[in-house]
Amino acid sequence: MISRETIQRIMDATQIEEVIGEFVSLKKRGANHIGCCPFHNEKTPSFYVSPSKGIYKCFGCGKSGNAVGFIMDHEHYTYPEALRYLANKYNIEIEEERQTEEQKERQTERDALFHVSEFAQKYFADLLYNNELGRAVGLSYFHQRGLSDDIIRTFGLGYCLDEWRNFTDHARSNGYSNEVLEKSGLTIFKEEGKYYDRFRGRVMFPIYSISGRVLGFSGRVLSSEKQAAKYVNSPDSEIYDKSHTLYGIFQARNAISKENKCYLVEGNVDVVSMHQSGVCNTVASCGTSLTTEQIRLIKRFTPNVTVLYDGDKAGIKAALRAVNLLFEESMHVRVVLFPDGEDPDSYAQKYGSTQLQEYLSTHEENFVAFKTRVLLEDVQTDPIRKSEVLKEIINTIALVPDPIERQEYIIQTASRLRMSEQVLLNELGKTINLNIIKSRKEEARQQSQAANSAPNPLPTTANPQPGAPPPLEPDPSDYELMRQSTSHRAPEQILAEEHPAEYQEEHIIQLLLNYGSKELPEEMVDEAGKTFTTSIPIANIIVDEIIENEIQFDNKLYQQIFDFYRQAVVEQQPLPDANFFATLSDTLIRNKALMLMVNPYTISDNWLMRKHISVPSIESRLYKDVEESILTLKQKAIDKKIENLKYKLRNCKDDDETDRLIAEHQHLVTLRQAVCKPLHRVIV
Ligand SMILES: [Zn+2]
Repeated sequence: MISRETIQRIMDATQIEEVIGEFVSLKKRGANHIGCCPFHNEKTPSFYVSPSKGIYKCFGCGKSGNAVGFIMDHEHYTYPEALRYLANKYNIEIEEERQTEEQKERQTERDALFHVSEFAQKYFADLLYNNELGRAVGLSYFHQRGLSDDIIRTFGLGYCLDEWRNFTDHARSNGYSNEVLEKSGLTIFKEEGKYYDRFRGRVMFPIYSISGRVLGFSGRVLSSEKQAAKYVNSPDSEIYDKSHTLYGIFQARNAISKENKCYLVEGNVDVVSMHQSGVCNTVASCGTSLTTEQIRLIKRFTPNVTVLYDGDKAGIKAALRAVNLLFEESMHVRVVLFPDGEDPDSYAQKYGSTQLQEYLSTHEENFVAFKTRVLLEDVQTDPIRKSEVLKEIINTIALVPDPIERQEYIIQTASRLRMSEQVLLNELGKTINLNIIKSRKEEARQQSQAANSAPNPLPTTANPQPGAPPPLEPDPSDYELMRQSTSHRAPEQILAEEHPAEYQEEHIIQLLLNYGSKELPEEMVDEAGKTFTTSIPIANIIVDEIIENEIQFDNKLYQQIFDFYRQAVVEQQPLPDANFFATLSDTLIRNKALMLMVNPYTISDNWLMRKHISVPSIESRLYKDVEESILTLKQKAIDKKIENLKYKLRNCKDDDETDRLIAEHQHLVTLRQAVCKPLHRVIV
């Protein structure tokens, strides 16, 4: 258990933009920071971080919360783990009680896997220095490969003794269950109770998450006589998915962000060796060919990838295919080819770090040129092969999103293939059209899926059902949806046009959330009849008016948010703030409140500027806003009463009662006129 005081100290020290900035590349925009959401895939940033309020909110997928919530969601930490992470980041000491047996038992499988992985990493790393065989075999291997003790520690490298179950027995004697050891892949269990260490006799490369948790291992065999695989990797588990992980991402992420570039190499040793040579923005896809998820991991830090190939031809051709994936994710791809027979590791060892860095900077070329060169090497004069090569290259160029960049590639390729640019452009046009048709179909399919599950067109409440079966072909209504969705209207404009009542309610709630505690001057009359000016928080003004006029919100979420304020005002408690909403367990209210707090409408400033519409800031119109909003709600309340009266009148059979109702109606109409007058509204 962590004490309340400690939690408060952690919260006070935490800067949300710093915390999230370690995982997402953020740019400052106005009062907020924005970036591409780490929880869903997106090309244009809709992920907002508000430093002043200490919250984040994604307008694409709806995720939101404070810094602790972000760490919990992003790293799959429990609440105490997230607090510990932040405490560590900000050097805050935590006094913890020892875990009881019961607490240990209650740990989920995930926790158990994280623990055993960390335990194993520490054990293997310890053997490397504090065990005779570890030193003689493991450490000397790393030293032979030119790795320093510093870099060995940075990457947490280790050694698993060449005995059948040295590790497993050690882990079992430390309380780890067979089940956890098996699920982590560290131990292999056979029938009749036989078991052995998966990684025995291997040097160990722990695979870290982006935040530095051990997820799994890659073990390299040392003895040459065995017919063992050179590398053995942990199997996928609850915590480790190799297609979502990059080797070295934890150690490389800051450098990738700083250099705005990521080097992609093939092997673990290449990564470690590059880091030791000072090229710290290097990662490898561990044990798989590059996946889309791995690319998205890189894309959180930079759009620029440079792929390093060693001179081996077969390898290059296989790798060419994976690179199209990089283009599909709109990455800028460059290539460095090492001299025949060299890889980053051997090159660094042979020539040293200065030479390596120089080689990288002088041998970088754009991917299209590289691909053309490699493919042309086999073609010679065969015209059929040449047209195949052309198609392949055009397919890659067509994936480049920027038209100017595409044009550049076409010019280069035309000269290399000795063909006219026009022929290439025609081919490119055809390919792009085909791609567009394909993606339109896909878009339409997704749109109709979303439309089926969420008829409400409000962008924030769209909630596509994951399980809904997709229609095979889009029908014409899908295209209509597409057309609507691509028209460039600001979200608040759509809201105001299509949902006037809802917009008014939202506006009041937005005022409460963003300016509730701000005080406005109010004229009052004292007991002697003298007027004086005092200042009252906006929340009090709004709550009083709404209670007095018996106004109910049509939208339940708005009503619930309002109720928090009402309670606070009535009971004279502190007003709910960003942190209050960020930590609400009700995700619907939390998401709605945070969305309105982060104020997405800064994004539509661009739109407004393009259309040359000048809009004064909400703050400068605050006073008028509060006044108008309350009047609008009052008008709405009166309208409701008038409707009720009309209904009663139609059904009234008593003459006296009818007279009374007519008088009341007249009174309400007069009242409504008075309310509407300051609003300059046409009275119907
Ligand atoms: Zn998102």
